[in-house]
Amino acid sequence: MTKDRTRFGQYGGQYVPEILMPALEELEREYGKARKDPGFRQELGEYMRNYGGRPTPLYFARRLTEKCGGAKIYLKREDLCHGGAHKFNNVMGQALLCKRMGKSRIIAETGAGQHGTATAMAAAVLGLRAEIYMGSEDIARQEMNVFRMKLMGAKVHPVDSGSRTLKDALNEAFRDWAASVESTYYMLGTAAGPHPYPAMVRDFQSVIGREARRQLLNREGKLPDLLVACVGGGSNAIGTFHPFLGDKDVAFLGAEAAGEGLSTGRHSASISGGRVGVLHGCKSYLLQDADGMISETHSVAAGLDYPGVGPEHSLLKDIGRAEYVGVTDREALYAFRTLSEVEGIIPALESSHAVYAGMQRAKEMSKDQVVVITVSGRGDKDLDTVIGLMGAR
Ligand SMILES: *Cc1c(COP(=O)(O)O)cnc(C)c1O
Repeated sequence: MTKDRTRFGQYGGQYVPEILMPALEELEREYGKARKDPGFRQELGEYMRNYGGRPTPLYFARRLTEKCGGAKIYLKREDLCHGGAHKFNNVMGQALLCKRMGKSRIIAETGAGQHGTATAMAAAVLGLRAEIYMGSEDIARQEMNVFRMKLMGAKVHPVDSGSRTLKDALNEAFRDWAASVESTYYMLGTAAGPHPYPAMVRDFQSVIGREARRQLLNREGKLPDLLVACVGGGSNAIGTFHPFLGDKDVAFLGAEAAGEGLSTGRHSASISGGRVGVLHGCKSYLLQDADGMISETHSVAAGLDYPGVGPEHSLLKDIGRAEYVGVTDREALYAFRTLSEVEGIIPALESSHAVYAGMQRAKEMSKDQVVVITVSGRGDKDLDTVIGLMGAR
């Protein structure tokens, strides 16, 4: 088989209607030029530093390390990024690319509203128009994020078809793009979708791993033994792992949402509990039933509640370069509480999955080893959920 630039092994590709192919080709061409352009890199770097607050700290979690009693645990603090999560890295890169391509309108779809909010933020700072497709069911559940988007000047289009959630919003956004490619940039929220999105989003998120690598070398004089990150669509995880791909002694662990347990069927663990299929223009592991219908997903963390996963993770899993484990809602809540109590850091529920998996591994490792856990976001947005589940103590 000849190498296909749109794929990671058998995964990825461009499973889209013919009408969208020219738009994907234009995007690939323009992104290819932008990434080599020192002017583009400098402008992005400036927004990263002075607007986004990068570099984010790599923090040695002394008390968490003592509690686990094994490897040293460092936290890569993406929760301190502007907007409260790593999503900033991706939307800022894509919004600058949109501007460079001479387009003035950005569309995106959002489920829980986190990607929509990040998109609205990046559009506002660059003076671009943002229109966000969101299922009307999700709009009713996510009042605060809808308000945030509107406050930052975005237009929110309610989607009333199907189950009125993320996948319906996605269909509408694709329909819009097919009719408006000339003027419109389509902003994808994770390292999935048709080529070139998985590679481009990974590149923008790789700032996480590049910084962590430099920061740990400065601090410990060596590379980490293990990197841990949560996996929804997989963007913060691939951004953490990718700069270490060639370092064979650095192990990768992805924490998927096992929800109420992998055996209950109520989870969002696409790699641990799914099969290969095609979703949103890309081939990858997916949660689907025997007839290939996409399954309902569940996770206490809204940002992990996605039935697919980025194609590069599917390849890393198959070749054994990365390992993926399921972390249940209950385990994530335990890590949420623990990190808050021992470090004064309230992690996002998504990130809490990584914290749990990292703590478990650290316990089994020796004291001269180092684990880096990416804290993808801050937990303030999740307080209502957590109060409902644990009661306000
Ligand atoms: C959106 C989100 C995620 C999941 O997205 P990935 O593409 O898997 O990184 C994880 N953590 C936080 C805080 C998020 O907002």
